[in-house]
Amino acid sequence: MVKVEKRKLSAGLYFVATPIGTARDITLHALDILTSADIIAAEDTRSMRKLLDIHGIALGGRPVVSYHDHSSEKSRNALIENVKNGQSVAYASEAGTPLIADPGYHLVQDAYDADVPLYSAPGPSAIIVALTLAGMPTDRFLFEGFLPNSQNQRRTQLQELSDIPATLVFYESPKRVAAMLKDAAEVLGAERHGAVCRELTKKFEQVRRGSLQDLAEQAVNDPPRGEIVVIIDRNRSDKNKDLDLDSEIRKALTHMSVKDTADAVAKAFGLKKRDVYQRVLQIGQNRTG
Ligand code: SAM
Repeated sequence: MVKVEKRKLSAGLYFVATPIGTARDITLHALDILTSADIIAAEDTRSMRKLLDIHGIALGGRPVVSYHDHSSEKSRNALIENVKNGQSVAYASEAGTPLIADPGYHLVQDAYDADVPLYSAPGPSAIIVALTLAGMPTDRFLFEGFLPNSQNQRRTQLQELSDIPATLVFYESPKRVAAMLKDAAEVLGAERHGAVCRELTKKFEQVRRGSLQDLAEQAVNDPPRGEIVVIIDRNRSDKNKDLDLDSEIRKALTHMSVKDTADAVAKAFGLKKRDVYQRVLQIGQNRTG
């Protein structure tokens, strides 16, 4: 039966993920913690109070204190001191998972230094929701957060990411997304695939997929509003295909014979077994040699 429980939590810092849109995207575990913690700390105390209200969680005199990236060391120490005195402290950022492009990192570090127990109630993060809907490979991805504001720095950073054999995930602002996509098309290649995922889990959720060139043009002609995640496929040039192939062969060789590796990888890449077999032999020899 679905029932939120108020119980005595052991002393510790509890990192609670909150919804990124739809308020019902919160776990029962998170609601249990928000119901039971002695103190609630939040990046944005107003949105926390609203969330508690939506889910019918009474504060009953418990404090909701502010803690964000610009909070002083003193306020961090105060939270840790509360835990040392036997209290449970729940911490949530404004939306999604704390520490993911959100405050919480220094709190975790200081908690380790002070030997204070840490717990988490995992839940939504825009990274994972966007990857779920973008239709790009998820075997390997690199989360880059927000790119720099300055165009020069943004282009340099994109250049550094260009050949990484992984799906790239960026957070973006609606004001900058057109410029970012234009830079991405020029630096990473106009034909490279991407997806602009906006307002995830909300009323105006939308995923636009296409070449970076098309996405950049659409962003000018019909600017996407709201919160945005940009996903960019890995470089599919021949040089990178070879890197992908080699990396799959290496992975398969850790638990398969040479023959099975050649069979499996040839099938996955749509190549002739004979051709892949030679490469598997070469890589296998280098590994043992
Ligand atoms: N901690 C959050 C998480 O786990 O996703 C991210 C916080 S970061 C300050 C906020 C950025 O996340 C937004 O600018 C946007 O790029 C992305 N984001 C958050 N919610 C989103 C949503 N519903 N749809 C699309 N992107 C979202």
